Amino acid sequence: MSYQHILLTLDYSEHGDYVLQKGQVLAQVFSAKLSLVHVLDNIPMPQVAYGTIIPLTEQTDNALLEAEKTKFIQIADKLGIDEDSRWMVWGNPKQEITHIAEKENADLIIVGSHGRHGLALLLGSTANAVLHYAKCDVLAVRLQD
Ligand code: AMP
Repeated sequence: MSYQHILLTLDYSEHGDYVLQKGQVLAQVFSAKLSLVHVLDNIPMPQVAYGTIIPLTEQTDNALLEAEKTKFIQIADKLGIDEDSRWMVWGNPKQEITHIAEKENADLIIVGSHGRHGLALLLGSTANAVLHYAKCDVLAVRLQD
């Protein structure tokens, strides 16, 4: 009945740290592997050869992307997440989150109840879509305004 692989979602919204902390605690409780995903949906995708998954170890000449990578790597380091469990991808958050969860066999996805797209809602649009489309369990951490 326990979880073995928890996928944490990161959107850099105001209460995002709280979602990350919940994930870290649950991973300890269940002795689960922890993965981290951030979907780039707010900066334009450059013409690159490597597809939608951003290689975190390679330098690019895109300053915006490098800044995003630095921020992401700092958080992943702080959470102690293995390098091969870090996912920074281009695309649509709900699709990429559920796709990575399936591909990596995560059995729990953790999202905030709302982030950047759902401030006025009980449940944000990404959270709602992940709940609908994920094939594994989803924990929506209730965030208060
Ligand atoms: P939203 O429904 O978009 O307001 O966001 C709800 C939650 O979905 C956030 O608290 C995050 O956990 C997750 N999320 C939203 N956008 C992204 C994103 N671009 N990358 C990763 N996770 C996200």
